[in-house]
Amino acid sequence: MSVWSNSISKLKGVGPRRATQLEQLGIRTMSDLIQFYPRRYEDRSQLKKIAEVESGQLVSVSGLVYNIQELKPRRGLTITKVFLKDDTGVIEIVWFNQSYKKNLLKAGLPVIAFGRVEKNGFKMQLQHAEIEIVDSPNSFVGKIVPVYSLAEGMNQNLIRNLVDQVLFSLDEIEEIIPEQLCKEQKLLNRQQALMQIHHPDSQMLLQQARKRLVFEELFFLQYGILKFKKQSDLLEKGIKHGLDGKISKTILEQIPFNLTEDQTKALAEIKADMEDIRPMHRLLQGDVGSGKTVVAALALAKTVENGYQGALMAPTEILAEQHYHSLSSLLAAQGIRIGILTGSKTKKQKENLLASLIAGNIDILIGTHALIQDNVEFQALGLVVTDEQHRFGVDQRAALEKKGTGPDVLVMTATPIPRTMALTVYGDLDVSVIRQMPPGRKPIQTFLRSSDAREKVYKYILSEVKKGRQAYIVCPLIEESDKLSAQSAIELYEELSQGYLKEASCGLVHGRLSSSEKDQVMQKFYINQIQVLVATTVIEVGVNVPNATVMVIEGADRFGLAQLHQLRGRIGRGELLSRCILLSQNKNQDTLERLNLLTASNDGFYLAEQDLLIRGPGQFFGKRQHGLPDLKIANIVSDVDILLQARSCALKALQRKEWYDGLNNSFTTYFGHQFQSILNT
Ligand code: ADP
Ligand code: MG
Repeated sequence: MSVWSNSISKLKGVGPRRATQLEQLGIRTMSDLIQFYPRRYEDRSQLKKIAEVESGQLVSVSGLVYNIQELKPRRGLTITKVFLKDDTGVIEIVWFNQSYKKNLLKAGLPVIAFGRVEKNGFKMQLQHAEIEIVDSPNSFVGKIVPVYSLAEGMNQNLIRNLVDQVLFSLDEIEEIIPEQLCKEQKLLNRQQALMQIHHPDSQMLLQQARKRLVFEELFFLQYGILKFKKQSDLLEKGIKHGLDGKISKTILEQIPFNLTEDQTKALAEIKADMEDIRPMHRLLQGDVGSGKTVVAALALAKTVENGYQGALMAPTEILAEQHYHSLSSLLAAQGIRIGILTGSKTKKQKENLLASLIAGNIDILIGTHALIQDNVEFQALGLVVTDEQHRFGVDQRAALEKKGTGPDVLVMTATPIPRTMALTVYGDLDVSVIRQMPPGRKPIQTFLRSSDAREKVYKYILSEVKKGRQAYIVCPLIEESDKLSAQSAIELYEELSQGYLKEASCGLVHGRLSSSEKDQVMQKFYINQIQVLVATTVIEVGVNVPNATVMVIEGADRFGLAQLHQLRGRIGRGELLSRCILLSQNKNQDTLERLNLLTASNDGFYLAEQDLLIRGPGQFFGKRQHGLPDLKIANIVSDVDILLQARSCALKALQRKEWYDGLNNSFTTYFGHQFQSILNT
């Protein structure tokens, strides 16, 4: 074991309490610490004199606090002003509704403020500046200073000090990228890069250090992804499916509509892969409502016709149940036996199901991630389909594949993925795209209304209900709390079902219901016994009720664009004109502009790209969604050039047997735990 895996509690100044604090930042080992890269830098080698700052510049100024003021010009607005003085002048630092900022400061303290200069009348201001107390006045003058993210009870010096203990105690930091690649790519060596990222000697060296570390991170990520792909490509034990026989043909004929051109093309690509000996690894991308399910159903039928079993994994029970029903109606007539496994089945039901599965008495098993549990064994798994793939991790997908010997793999997603993301997150997959919507769909009309318009909006719902249509009302997003989301849904349901919507039959579904309760509600909604469904985002993916023509999204400003687009995809699924109403009280200009993008466009690709630009990749996908390791330094949007380089180097590296051992080791230290299933094959 290398020193890197040593616990940070070996460092001076780290007792149990500190260790817990550091853990909040994800720092447990020396290696975590050394890769805890600064959030930003303060170039105090280039501090500006206050008299010299100009409007629009991003500057650091240093000085003494000489006055603090707080104003409350009207209800709900608190303005905090700090006046900062150096030997050339005074500048105002202004925060809105961040009153706590003043608690840290008092007159006479030496501070450094960093922010953008705005001209307000004749005065120069820094708005929303970051401010830092200079611990010992001169210590950083003339340097580029790293600024780290902190957890409560920490200060910058603590982290700086710990990082230094590690950096300076090691004689030499080992290189982990093959020398030849370092040379070709003109990379700083690892030792220099780590030193410079924490202690830059100049802006130029800092840029080089960053480039080297971004490359390193993306290189190992691509190495892992491509290794995964290559191993599956090399697997000679893939399944060679035969050409379509009677069952496949009959099912295709019996579908109640004609496939669109894009569906036909995607299906042909999938079938060609299945008929090849190499295992298929294909991503089927298609906007919400484009009709991916039927394509998956036909592929599953093909594997069954060839004597194999199929698996279909979906991220929610509601969706799994729905797939169970739609696949049954498409396939059961041809004698295909379909089972469903979710977390909520009783022990007995599960045992029976699993016994039939291994005996080969079930042809297609549909379920949630319950499918990847150890006790699920197939007799002969031929095709694995993952729906709404972005909700699962790479490792979960791999775990399902392991249930067979080189089965074909199809993953589907409705989240349109910009190209850079596709390369990173889905770097191991071939791609088929369904761009067309089935014929006869009318584009959804989307409106943005202030919450004052609620009454009118509910009247509209009632008028649609009278015509026999159905509606969704989505509650405001409460992130990370199922419980609070459920509560707000219950309140809204009670308010509406006893108030505005008394005349309609309302239903309620949220994440806190047991799955059989959820199922009952959804069943009633499918058959129009429930006319208005009040719901949390549990209905975000997949749910298909073509008779629903209205969606009201309360507190729309809390959602991201891509998510709103997904939600909105629950309507407009038939030939009826559908309307989506976004309600928001937020008057912020940026927010309104963002929401207006939705009223103007129904194009998921465009919206996803806008969303990615506005919110950045972390927010856009969320950790949970892409299931890949968190990147510590690279930004896959702005570092796309390095990403492409890293990818081509990783491809080369995979052809060099003599590099394997070294690279595999480094890879394991880097991302190993998240990718275990890839390396253990
Ligand atoms: P998604 O791609 O979002 O998963 P679904 O597979 O749920 O979309 O399909 C949405 C709806 O469109 C379903 O009701 C399905 O039966 C219908 N559909 C799919 N393909 C066609 C088609 N070619 N023509 C008409 N309707 C279709
Ligand atoms: Mg779907």
